[in-house]
Amino acid sequence: MKYLNVHLKAGKEESLKRFHPWIFSGAIHHIEGEPEEGEVVRVLTSKNEFIAVGHFQIGSIAVRVLSFADEPIDAAFWHRRLSVAYEMRRAIGVATRADNNTYRLVHGEGDNLPGLVIDVYGKTAVLQAHSVGMHVCRMQIAQALAEVMQGVIENIYYKSETTLPYKADLGQENGFIVGGSPDNVATEYGLKFHVDWLKGQKTGFFVDQRENRSLLERYAQGRSVLNMFCYTGGFSFYAMRGGAKLVHSVDSSAKAIDLTNRNVELNFPGDPRHTAYAEDAFKYLDRMGDQYDLIILDPPAFAKHKDALRNALQGYRKLNAKAFEKIKPGGILFTFSCSQVVTKDHFRTAVFTAAAMSGRRVRILHQLTQPADHPVNIYHPEGEYLKGLVLYVE
Ligand code: SAH
Repeated sequence: MKYLNVHLKAGKEESLKRFHPWIFSGAIHHIEGEPEEGEVVRVLTSKNEFIAVGHFQIGSIAVRVLSFADEPIDAAFWHRRLSVAYEMRRAIGVATRADNNTYRLVHGEGDNLPGLVIDVYGKTAVLQAHSVGMHVCRMQIAQALAEVMQGVIENIYYKSETTLPYKADLGQENGFIVGGSPDNVATEYGLKFHVDWLKGQKTGFFVDQRENRSLLERYAQGRSVLNMFCYTGGFSFYAMRGGAKLVHSVDSSAKAIDLTNRNVELNFPGDPRHTAYAEDAFKYLDRMGDQYDLIILDPPAFAKHKDALRNALQGYRKLNAKAFEKIKPGGILFTFSCSQVVTKDHFRTAVFTAAAMSGRRVRILHQLTQPADHPVNIYHPEGEYLKGLVLYVE
């Protein structure tokens, strides 16, 4: 192995002994040579003992650990890691159910592959690099993926234009690495969705709400539903299948509303219960009446960085306060935050404050999180990002 060695300062190996997968730049004593961003490096303690191998990057996180064994990061490595990831998705059922072909195959640190996301939509996998290291390895990863999922996956689309550090100046474009099928209808628990991996948000769909949508279906019977921040309309179709009386989907993006309407046609053609509105959430919540007794609030991450936390919490407070103010007595509120920097406690406090402002009696029915195909590495608790509360509002 000819990887360059990174030497840590004394004592800076402690978190690595507990398998935390990041090495901050301040922990580094010196580097032998000058690795390029994205290069694989070996990490040694101050006593010259091997401790990890990972991708070197420029920034506050200097190395993202790929392995705690002194092994080459080669075709066999990717093959092994992707096989384990696929096996796990089969074990939890998302990759084996006849009514589902939409799931996350690789969830970064949660699958011991920091910086890599792979979502599967039927015969197409969308591969997304969040680090230069994963970008550099994309062809090897795609090759291993094609092998591991032979007979399942026919197309691999690479979508990292907006997820890689801008300054890295890699000049890469989104596009198919393998295959190129335009067929983009995926099935989630028996419901069909057009997935816009070319231009859509994230990898084209929010796979992480599947179990929470499924829970919503159980509460939808006979209710009037508002799906706020609907994007592709995910929650709306579960509500319709669950017997909702009426479903209104709202998103500020006209493209999202267009996708939602197309997805209605796929699942419930001509169903008069559904209407979609392209409108700002706060404006809609202000002008709407009190007809809803099931409301979903699934906003985009209000805080992407720690310094935005205060404003984000205020945003969650304001948003939820409007729902508490308007929801019908006996109503159920599904409310979420997907900001990583907003902890479960932060979010709960923001929602609590909003409830108190309304003066209504509120009970917590469920505390929700991300699904099993978005696992949290036990040594990397930061990987827990999705938080949700299901509330009964008297
Ligand atoms: N609930 C969705 C995912 C929501 S993603 C699902 O299950 O798939 C967040 C969505 O909020 C995006 O589609 C974005 O267009 C929308 N959005 C962002 N700001 C908004 C605003 N001020 N008002 C309404 N929608 C907004």
